[in-house]
Amino acid sequence: MKQQYKSYQQTCEFLAECVSKYPDLIKTESIGKTWEGRDIMLATISLNVENADLKPAMLFTGTIHAREWIGNELAVSFIDYLLMNYSSNPKVLKTLTKNTLYIVPCLNPDGFEYSKKHFSFWRKNRRDNGDGTFGVDLNRNFSVGYQKSKDTASNVYSGPNPFSEPETLAMKKFVDGKDNITIALDYHSQGNVFFPAHKFNHEEEIEGTDLNTLCANMNYEIKKVTGRRYGIHRGKPPTKLISGSGREYYYSRGIMAAVVEVGTRNIPDFMQNMQESIDENIPALLRTLGEAQNYSKQAPSRVSNFHIENYTADEVTLSWDYEYNKDVFFQIFRNTEDKESCTEANLIAETYNTFFTDIQLQSGTNYHYFIRCVNNLTKVKSPFAPKVKIKTLLDADEFSKTIFSAPNEIGYVASKLLETNRKHFGLNSLFIGVNENKGTSYGVMQFDLDGIPENAIIKDVRISLYPLNRVNVKIEKFGEWSMSIVDKETVSELYDYEQIHNANLLETLGQTIPSEKLTQGIWCHWDLNSTEKNVLQTQLREKKVLFKISGPTELPEGRDSQMMMFDLGYGNFGGGIHYRPSIDIKYTIPSQEIVIDVLKTTSISVDKIEQDELICGFDANNEKIYGLMEFDLSPLPNPEETIITDSYIQIKNKSATKTKEDIRYNVEFVDVDDATCDSIKNRDRIEFIGYEVSRADLQKNKTHKFIFDHYSKLALEDVHRENKIAKFVIRPTYSDIKNHIVKWHGKDSNNSVKLVVNYIKRRKEPIESISNLSLSLENDKIKLNWSNPNNEDFRGVYVVRNRFHIPKNHLDGDKIYAGKDNYTYDDFGNKNIAKYYSVFAYDNVPNYSEPLYVAHLKKEDDVAQI
Ligand SMILES: [Zn+2]
Repeated sequence: MKQQYKSYQQTCEFLAECVSKYPDLIKTESIGKTWEGRDIMLATISLNVENADLKPAMLFTGTIHAREWIGNELAVSFIDYLLMNYSSNPKVLKTLTKNTLYIVPCLNPDGFEYSKKHFSFWRKNRRDNGDGTFGVDLNRNFSVGYQKSKDTASNVYSGPNPFSEPETLAMKKFVDGKDNITIALDYHSQGNVFFPAHKFNHEEEIEGTDLNTLCANMNYEIKKVTGRRYGIHRGKPPTKLISGSGREYYYSRGIMAAVVEVGTRNIPDFMQNMQESIDENIPALLRTLGEAQNYSKQAPSRVSNFHIENYTADEVTLSWDYEYNKDVFFQIFRNTEDKESCTEANLIAETYNTFFTDIQLQSGTNYHYFIRCVNNLTKVKSPFAPKVKIKTLLDADEFSKTIFSAPNEIGYVASKLLETNRKHFGLNSLFIGVNENKGTSYGVMQFDLDGIPENAIIKDVRISLYPLNRVNVKIEKFGEWSMSIVDKETVSELYDYEQIHNANLLETLGQTIPSEKLTQGIWCHWDLNSTEKNVLQTQLREKKVLFKISGPTELPEGRDSQMMMFDLGYGNFGGGIHYRPSIDIKYTIPSQEIVIDVLKTTSISVDKIEQDELICGFDANNEKIYGLMEFDLSPLPNPEETIITDSYIQIKNKSATKTKEDIRYNVEFVDVDDATCDSIKNRDRIEFIGYEVSRADLQKNKTHKFIFDHYSKLALEDVHRENKIAKFVIRPTYSDIKNHIVKWHGKDSNNSVKLVVNYIKRRKEPIESISNLSLSLENDKIKLNWSNPNNEDFRGVYVVRNRFHIPKNHLDGDKIYAGKDNYTYDDFGNKNIAKYYSVFAYDNVPNYSEPLYVAHLKKEDDVAQI
């Protein structure tokens, strides 16, 4: 028989049947009566259900909005799943042994019945407002952030006062009466997105990492079932935050709360879509139910002061504070993407220490670190400390640029909006895809490549866009979004739909984003492969690169929209600088070659020192003869800007005494004061130069290249920096032969000894920090002032905010400003919340200086240097 949506009555009957079959596992109660006299049913599920209230609990609420049937349907399926599996599935058994589920399948029975029987699109309850209109939006009728409204006909009418409705009042009474609830999930449709709770601040909360991770870990389970990825979005400035909702009420009581918006339609095709939504959410619900204990009183407390101790191009050391407890160890998780899960898959360390060094990382790459602790006896885990973000240092020869489009070079062009397409540039959002109002719509982004040398060698490229579809942008499961590099010759006007539509594409990036992965609140990235990088390379000469972003162009029968919205970062509704689309390019530049003739050669044996000769071997007493080569590095540019990419010493041999012994010769990089036999014998060896010449080589080749390894190149840079003469010794390896000599061409020969150095010009060290950092309040906003360093390599400052620890990396927090000014306002920060701001100065590489930080609302000195 075809499965169809359960009615309120069928749900009540289902619950009664469960109780009669599994009285030890489930009990039910009516927590209140609706205006029309229906019972609001709540089920409690736990192993030995009579003890349920003693265990940490998760609260599930469904169908608070009448037309969002998924809530009731998922609740019925989840209850059924738990009861059917507790005896056969160890995970279900374990979860129900330690945790309790409180579940209200349908919080709005009157509205739900009205929606099922009469008007499917009904949202509110069925209160008679007395003026001919009906209904209150129950999810605006809770007390936290409640906003009074007079428009009773509105779909979001909040009711005469908070908790005026029997449904919300029943929830309040139930939740207020239970102190064991630690997690609350409120199920809605549609959008395939999680909305974690907020405190009406556009700032991180101490539980922010927990809330995001709870959702990300649900995503981890969802992905295993259907491959889908839900969005995770707390709402961001200046978007109006939802007020008077259940979620914020639960959160205000210390409960981790989130709304889950499921599916792409309120009332989808059951077999095709609803079953999929249910199946993907059940493992996610089970995982979250198991987390209830980790937010309870049994849980260890969270780690404090989790921060970056130091970092290089390939290592990061983290440290944290914790009151010693021999039973508690720490788990560290690492992600490279935004809002990813913390599960077995990315657990990188377990330790009893309060520090950890992560190794073998990529240079110039973003990493996110998470930490929680585990009680080894009870296995109960702590909440997460606020996460730490970092970008590792660039390698010595690398440069990077993050480029944003100018406002007039980013926007969308739509086939049905030919007259207004020009106005879509630099304003609010990119709409990409197809719908009935806009027709086909493409995103257009042009980036200025002026700051990158034409001959740059591109190493890595990442394009980033921030998707933000809210309810008015539907994404069903079809189509994909792709990015192409456009031949600029074929586009003279970015605003011209026809030109963009018909543009010649140089390359469409192989990576596309299918609809089920494209979701709001999580950055979308395109990482270019080598063919695509080569195409971008050709655009360096053009000084600009133009991208076209395409989505689906056709709609199936009965669908009206498949349109994705991305933040553009400009305009009143744009999210600001933090959310602007960008292209990140990591590159190096071709090296230059310099040939340095030898300054001096000396041959040194026990009884003889000969200038301008280069001889090595053994004398009549089997004592070694050494050849010393000295080079003056002053033809190289300023050592602070010289990165040696390759180097070798080239020597030619004149003659050698014949022998059958396997003698080998090698070159050492040495530190000696003078050319005497004693100092050579007692030399400080810096490094072997990586090549050795055998007797056979001497016979075969006349020219020999002694090639520097990585360490020798660094040593050569050091000698250059110290303004010293670089000295090398050529010598035979051990042998007991006598009277064996190799003559090399010395200083006076035509083919004299050479040091060949390939190098690039690049600053090694950051410029000096900013100074005079101060904080003030101006027009009710926090304002930061500072003095920029007076250095010709100064390119700008980067300002970052963090509520929990001093940012020691420019990515470790919310970006407030990047540019050349000497002040900025924090447009979104709450002036009543304590926090840190760090300001980094950067050069053209960029290398970031040591930060200066300022604490807002802290007792310490206002400004202090780290
Ligand atoms: Zn809803």
